[in-house]
Amino acid sequence: MSGDSAAREAGVIALLDELVQNQIAAGEVIERPASVVKELVENAVDAGARRVRVDLEEGGMRLVRVSDDGGGMVPADLARAFEPHATSKLRDVADLDHIASLGFRGEALASIGSVARCAIFSRVPGEELGWRVENEGGRLTTPVQAGGPLGTSVEARDLFFNTPARRRFLKRPSTELARCVDILQRAALGQLGIGFVLTHDGARVLDIEADMDLRARVRRAFGADLAGSLEELDAHDGSTRLTGLVAPPRFARRDTSRQMWFLNGRSLRDRILLRCLKDAYRGLVLDGRQPVAFLHLALDPGAVDVNVHPAKAEVRFRDQRRLFGFLVNALREAAGRTDMATPGASMLGAALRGGALDPGQGAIADPGPLARGPRESEPFVVREVAGAPPIEDLSVAAGASAPTLVEPAEDLAGPYLTIARTYVARVVPDGFEIVDQHALHERVTYEELLREVRAGAVEVQRYLVPELVELTAGEVELLVRHAEALGRIGIQLEAFGATTVAVGGLPARLRRPDPADLVRVALGVLETQGEAPAAEDLLEGVLHSSACRSSAMAGDDLDPAEIRSLLERARAFDGASTCPHGRPTRVRFTLADLERAFGRR
Ligand code: ADP
Ligand code: MG
Repeated sequence: MSGDSAAREAGVIALLDELVQNQIAAGEVIERPASVVKELVENAVDAGARRVRVDLEEGGMRLVRVSDDGGGMVPADLARAFEPHATSKLRDVADLDHIASLGFRGEALASIGSVARCAIFSRVPGEELGWRVENEGGRLTTPVQAGGPLGTSVEARDLFFNTPARRRFLKRPSTELARCVDILQRAALGQLGIGFVLTHDGARVLDIEADMDLRARVRRAFGADLAGSLEELDAHDGSTRLTGLVAPPRFARRDTSRQMWFLNGRSLRDRILLRCLKDAYRGLVLDGRQPVAFLHLALDPGAVDVNVHPAKAEVRFRDQRRLFGFLVNALREAAGRTDMATPGASMLGAALRGGALDPGQGAIADPGPLARGPRESEPFVVREVAGAPPIEDLSVAAGASAPTLVEPAEDLAGPYLTIARTYVARVVPDGFEIVDQHALHERVTYEELLREVRAGAVEVQRYLVPELVELTAGEVELLVRHAEALGRIGIQLEAFGATTVAVGGLPARLRRPDPADLVRVALGVLETQGEAPAAEDLLEGVLHSSACRSSAMAGDDLDPAEIRSLLERARAFDGASTCPHGRPTRVRFTLADLERAFGRR
């Protein structure tokens, strides 16, 4: 018998040894230092810690150490903790239906132990000494007694030292660090009641005290400007409760790094939840921008399945529809309460720093997670002015001769100063604001129409003679198929031969609408929204592209009465401070801004 056939007889399938198994499993959960941080911090939280400290070196690639003051482990558990599928949090499959801990798969320590040089020290209450075990790429030592504080400290050095291929995927230390910071910020904002400290190469990066509330935590992590602008939210539907903070639309960013969802304390990046926020801020932020919010969702653990994703970042909700509706409504209401006027101070500040102005949303300079610092030292930070002189003093102090500059906010009587037939400046109680009359009108039109659509009563301007619009046969067919939905948003049309539609009426709220234009826009929206678009989506889509043209006001001369009526209509609903495209409609300068600008403070 040749060697070949002997080998064939022995078979080619073999069981992988445990180290290789663990390294493969590690591929699912441990991608980079940030995943180590996440797993170890979750363990600390599960252990009932009140304080968690994370020390990193070289972006976590050289060292991740997580220390907690939780319940600790006895030596028998220390020896077992690195074994795969070893967990104290789950006993049988029924437990999977009501998981309240962050961990439960018993995979993290086994995975980390297989790809790093690990050590655990732990001391439980009542013992004077603790115990220490080491695990170097899967080789476990027996526990030895050692001195140290109550609780547990787990360290992972030289991540992927024994899997060079994986190590090559790691990025520069600063990039890896940024991801670790993100994990820790999420942990700190998700686990109220627990204090967190993060150091990198010996320097303190984040420091959150245990008794800080959510707003104070946001202030520490992201600065006073954002924290001070957040609006609180507390809503419930049966046993489901949503609490948290939402930011004005101007804080929206290109990424979702300031969008945090916590489900029963667990940080999630669930698509459904991200969609909820997008829907709630619809019309308030520019396309492609992500609103900023920090949200805690408390759900009965039985109403959600967290065991669908190895890193547990996505979940499955049992009654998704109802949950979605509840969340969008609650969020939209809260978003509407935020102060949507763009603070002029941020624009002035950006202009002085020489940065390009990004209309509205981008105007707040964001230093990023690591460039923290005393924002108070910036020349133009919006801040509440305690004991600011009443507005009357302004004209006196400035020696101004115009005596009518003072008007309470509720009074919209003017005077108005119109600039370039587009902008209207007026005095408000704590300063002055500039309104983009065109953008504001757009917003007002959108909101009023939306209200009519929701009430099922859109006011329609009928044409005495229908307007005919030439199209292709396919386009006519598409429009006719959706004629009813279009009718609900005030676009009345019917086929007039194979390649023509007759437009019988359009929403009365639109100024000088161009029927052909509007029909083409509606077609575009129908083509992208598929079957059975919701009336609100349709309306938004249509106004998104044509409201500007059809309700054009920039360049129109408005007399004071018209301006007042516009401001009055705007006051009738929340959110008058951005146009439906998310551009700002108002920029506000407070007295404090002016004083700073003129070097008076
Ligand atoms: P899981 O968290 O899914 O149970 P891990 O591999 O992360 O799995 O941890 C295994 C077990 O080790 C945990 O179930 C827990 O009993 C114990 N353990 C891990 N970290 C700590 C800690 N910081 N404090 C106390 N016990 C811990
Ligand atoms: Mg765990």
